[in-house]
Amino acid sequence: MAEYKCFHCGNNLKSKDLKKRFVCPECGSRIFYKPRNKMKTVNSD
Ligand SMILES: [Zn+2]
Repeated sequence: MAEYKCFHCGNNLKSKDLKKRFVCPECGSRIFYKPRNKMKTVNSD
């Protein structure tokens, strides 16, 4: 499940919400980006 973030207001949106309408319900912006929530942990040994 992909999550998107509104570029304009920072509202979090699920991909299923955007399937209906690719518009931010908060501000009406159509610019989104995928926030990288995955932390990359590097363990030495
Ligand atoms: Zn927005």
